[in-house]
Amino acid sequence: MKIIMLGAPGAGKGTQAKMIADKYALPHVSTGDIFRANLKEGTELGMKVKAYMDQGALVPDELTVEILLDRVSKDDCKNGYVLDGFPRTIPQAEVLDKELEKLGDAVDLAIDVEVPDENIVRRMSGRRACVKCGATYHVEHIPPKQEGICDRCGAELIQRDDDKPETVQKRLSVYHEQTAPLIDYYTKKGILKTVDGTQDMDAVFGAITAIIDRH
Ligand code: ADP
Ligand code: ADP
Ligand code: ZN
Repeated sequence: MKIIMLGAPGAGKGTQAKMIADKYALPHVSTGDIFRANLKEGTELGMKVKAYMDQGALVPDELTVEILLDRVSKDDCKNGYVLDGFPRTIPQAEVLDKELEKLGDAVDLAIDVEVPDENIVRRMSGRRACVKCGATYHVEHIPPKQEGICDRCGAELIQRDDDKPETVQKRLSVYHEQTAPLIDYYTKKGILKTVDGTQDMDAVFGAITAIIDRH
């Protein structure tokens, strides 16, 4: 099963993608996580993407597509995967479809987690991420048991540099211009499903598992 998570930055794609990955034993593939890991390690890729990410702009398609195709060609992706944060532009979606078509394959579901812009800034200003395992929390909505400490691995929780309000606004406008057109793209393919992302985390997950189990 190949699932794409769509939605604005902060809509809860990553949170849900991790839960789907656990329940259905699929790898969770996040281009944002791959870029951040490279930034942290100071790799050549990390240096190339830093300026884009800092500004809240998209990393160029060519570079992003190369990283993604390399990742999904790995053995653990043979039986499917959950894509979180990819595709983010129509050209990215077209390349993915073309590559899958070569293998006689296709994306099964595109799940759009809908959250209005008004809720997004609050979601992102409260987001905290584990420096070690990448688990994500929210200071009000999904707090860790102990403030500033990851429940899963005990490491420190930090705020992402690009979650500052100025960058969030920029990312939201990039989303509306470049990513939201994918909703139409997957609707036309007949695989778009929409869930109400303003519900609590477990209710959103319930709606998503109902969609997957029906598929
Ligand atoms: P969020 O879901 O909160 O927006 P991500 O972790 O998905 O955050 O992405 C963080 C940043 O990484 C984006 O703002 C962008 O700079 C870069 N990025 C991630 N995925 C892509 C992609 N598919 N295409 C271009 N840039 C991307
Ligand atoms: P995305 O991957 O779409 O950028 P995240 O999954 O990182 O979004 O979620 C953004 C923030 O909102 C995080 O702090 C997360 O803990 C929180 N969050 C996720 N889902 C919900 C929800 N259903 N209700 C409230 N807060 C949520
Ligand atoms: Zn952790």
